Parts: sequence; C-alpha cells; structure tokens
Amino acid sequence: MADMRNIVILTGAGISAESGIDTFRDAGGLWEQHKVEDVATPEAFERDPDLVLRFYDMRREAIQAKQPNAAHEALAKLDAAWDGGLLIVTQNVDDLHERAGASRVLHMHGTHLNAWCTACDMRAKWTGPMLDRPACPECGERALRPDVVWFGEMPYEMDRIYASLRKADLFVSIGTSGAVYPAAGFVQEAREMRVRTLELNLEASMGSRWFHESRHGPATQLVPQWVDEVLGG
Ligand SMILES: [Zn+2]
Repeated sequence: MADMRNIVILTGAGISAESGIDTFRDAGGLWEQHKVEDVATPEAFERDPDLVLRFYDMRREAIQAKQPNAAHEALAKLDAAWDGGLLIVTQNVDDLHERAGASRVLHMHGTHLNAWCTACDMRAKWTGPMLDRPACPECGERALRPDVVWFGEMPYEMDRIYASLRKADLFVSIGTSGAVYPAAGFVQEAREMRVRTLELNLEASMGSRWFHESRHGPATQLVPQWVDEVLGG
C-alpha cells in the first residue's frame, strides 16, 4: 500500500445497521402494510403526500436518536489522518458519518435531514416535521419535500463519483451488497481502471465476485481493523 494515495469508499445500510437503523428488509420491506417502494417514489408523493411526509417525519425523528458506531468512527479517523484523496460515498440518508466527524462525505441518495423546496429549489438542513406543510424559509411556498432520492430518481453527483473512481488507487465497498446499480457499476468501473478493490460486508454478496478481496464480518470489527492497516502501513 506504499504508493496508495486516493481512496474511494462506498458505504451502505450495513454500516448503519449496528447503530439500530433498519432498512425494513427485516420487516419484509413493509411499513404499516405499505411496501417501502410505495412510499419512496415521486408517484406516491403525488398520490398521497400525507402518507409519504408522515413516513419521512418518522424516519427523520428516529435517526436523530441513533448514534454513530465504531465503523463510522474509524472512517472519521481515516478522514482526519489521510493526506491523500478520500471520498466517502454513502447510500445512506442518515448523518452518522458526519456526526462521527467525517467531512469528505457525499450523500448520493440525499439525506433525511435536508429539505428541498420544489418551488424555488432551496435546500437546507431540516430536523423537524414536514407533514404540517411548513413554509419554505426562502420563498414562503409550502412546497417542501425530503431531500432524498426516491426510486426512479437520479442519484446525486454521479459525475463527481466517477471522476473520483478514475483517480482512485483503492475502492472499498462497506456494508452494501454491491449487486444493485448504480453502486454495482462503481466496482466494475474501478476494475476497468485497474483500481484495487476491497469489499467489507457482513456476508458474501452477489457482488463479491467483482472484488479483488472480500472480507466478511460485522462492520464495527472489519472497518476499524482495515483503517488501522491503512494508517499503520
Ligand atoms: Zn422555496
């Protein structure tokens, strides 16, 4: 690893699971008898905005009671200590990377703690409810929605992610199956650019075959171990 300079890390639900943030997969993907796919789409928001806003109000409140775990903390330590390039691309819409102290974080699926005004395009931190249709602090319209990427919408900043991957010496995927696009495309892009690839996941995933190396176990063990290797080597 002596000549390693630029690292791109992708994190998914598996890194936040040990902080108690569930993905609804445990409950068969259901929330109050609704499939999560049916409350996380632009069509659902058009059809039944109260349902969608209530769901996101609940999630926004829940994540604020959760705490970062040892895996988030290890990545924050890497971020602080690493002089080279680093980008933590997360699929998660919680803010646990930031609360652990990481700053080089890109939320490709947005964040629960942001509001987006569909009238004036304002985006701002938002910790309270939206169900009561609060006015946009910029334009006064009651047109706020969660600043999260719904099914069928484009993930954020894909150009920046691919540009970072092309410059990377190492791509690490943490707590994500690696089997779902566009994230699955990251490891393939990395391989084509002859970037070294490492997977840290609870179990072997459908995407494991794409990686040069795959380690299996809880993120709270694997991630601190790996960070110590990088910073010690
Ligand atoms: Zn506005």
